[in-house]
Amino acid sequence: MQAMVLKKLKSPLEWTDLPDREPGPGEIRVKVSACGVCRTDLHVVDGELPNPQTPIIPGHEIVGRIDAIGPGVTDLRMGQRVGIPWLAHTCGVCPYCADGHENLCDRPIFTGYTRDGGFATAAVADARFAFPLGEAGDDVALAPLLCAGLIGWRSLVIAGDGKKLGLYGFGAAAHILIQVAKWQDRSVYAFTRPGDTAAQDFARKLGAVWAGGSDETPPILLDAAIVFAPVGDLVPLALKALRKGGRVVCAGIHMSDIPSFSYNLLWEERQIVSVANLTRQDGIDFLKLAAEIGIVTQTTEYPLAEANRALDDLRAGRFEGAAVLVP
Ligand SMILES: [Zn+2]
Ligand SMILES: [Zn+2]
Repeated sequence: MQAMVLKKLKSPLEWTDLPDREPGPGEIRVKVSACGVCRTDLHVVDGELPNPQTPIIPGHEIVGRIDAIGPGVTDLRMGQRVGIPWLAHTCGVCPYCADGHENLCDRPIFTGYTRDGGFATAAVADARFAFPLGEAGDDVALAPLLCAGLIGWRSLVIAGDGKKLGLYGFGAAAHILIQVAKWQDRSVYAFTRPGDTAAQDFARKLGAVWAGGSDETPPILLDAAIVFAPVGDLVPLALKALRKGGRVVCAGIHMSDIPSFSYNLLWEERQIVSVANLTRQDGIDFLKLAAEIGIVTQTTEYPLAEANRALDDLRAGRFEGAAVLVP
């Protein structure tokens, strides 16, 4: 197999030939057909997450077909198309696993961070954490659903039922989530980097009722705001845009420091919460809904060997929607 491997933090991934891997008990191996590029991959490469491991193959939005099955796997079959998400394994016995919050497991393993991911021609995964994808839809188009879509979905649920929803950062996650929000009859207010008129046009094209820079004030007060951009400065700005009792949801795994702000912004039962990881139930719920809604993703394809260019383009905001690597 071949992979783009992160051998040293903060350095480019390296094209590497590796011996083929066999799935162990309870595992499957997939031949990767597409793997999305997520902002979390940038945080992995940049060493911004705790206890980084190298060498590691990044990538946790994997679409592929099973080409080897380990002992004990009974509910998946050879040739089946599956998605492999960020959540690679949970312990099943800690208090969080026991009460249905496996996203907060005390001893988790994450794809592309603490076990090898999908920037490769093949990947081995715990079969219990792979999602059967069926045959509808294109491999590349489905890949961004596996993290951008899923985390967006979990964030939306945690944001509550309010109809006026702000999205800060209009990238891979927001361009999927706006389709869910519209389907739920909500109004979306999209905030981009100040002056990024291309992203604002993109948001309006997808149905945002308003789009502007993150330094702008929306025309009405919002019920909830989801912050996808990894920029702590956005948190007080988002609070300022909320009605009483509104909620700011921080959806990223990493964010720059949040500046201090006046308690008045939080007063009147406004809330700030974060969203961490996913549960398998999130995946089941969201992938079913995505098919029902007919979510259309906008993707920019890169050959696997050009993963570094894809990461650079993501960092610089050079494309709309999501980047996807194709081996
Ligand atoms: Zn656990
Ligand atoms: Zn991700």
